[in-house]
Amino acid sequence: MAFGVLALQGDFAAHAAALRALGVGVRDVRRCRDLDGLSGLVLPGGESTTLLKLMADEPWFDALARFHGEGGALFGTCAGAILLAREVRGPAQPSLGLLDAVVERNAYGRQVESFETTLDAPALGGSIGGVFIRAPRLRALGPAVEVLARHDGEPVLVREGSVLAATFHPEIAGEARVHRLFVESARAAVVA
Ligand code: GLN
Repeated sequence: MAFGVLALQGDFAAHAAALRALGVGVRDVRRCRDLDGLSGLVLPGGESTTLLKLMADEPWFDALARFHGEGGALFGTCAGAILLAREVRGPAQPSLGLLDAVVERNAYGRQVESFETTLDAPALGGSIGGVFIRAPRLRALGPAVEVLARHDGEPVLVREGSVLAATFHPEIAGEARVHRLFVESARAAVVA
């Protein structure tokens, strides 16, 4: 099984390192055709507006919808989660609509723009580490979306089928369990 990391902008190298540490094959994805043969793709954190501009060079929206439709697993962190959402606020911008969620960008306000914390994640065996950097907040979730971790009661790690999204950065916190979950869910999809 091979995994890819969208390597247009943001902290894609940290995700590639996190996946390699789990012993899986990883390659950078810079063109739509690089998706061929991948079981899963990480959409990294960075700046979602910049990512959208860079994605205008190729038919990424169609290619990622097809990848998802053919069973490819997707994992978005922070800006990547914003790209996956059904609706983006603060301000509104285009998104892939592969996760039934309403996301508000930069939603923690200026005083607490960035922070590191421990998250309540019973689905992952207890508490996990997370770094929030100008993070979004999940303002509404569709009925098929499972909450896997919370911060102060609010959802911060969610899953809808083969789509996993975190508003924080596990790859910066040295937190391997979220990437492991992603790899395992992609494997399960292959077996199913
Ligand atoms: N604030 C960024 C955005 O709106 C996301 C920040 C991040 O990915 N750490 O796209």
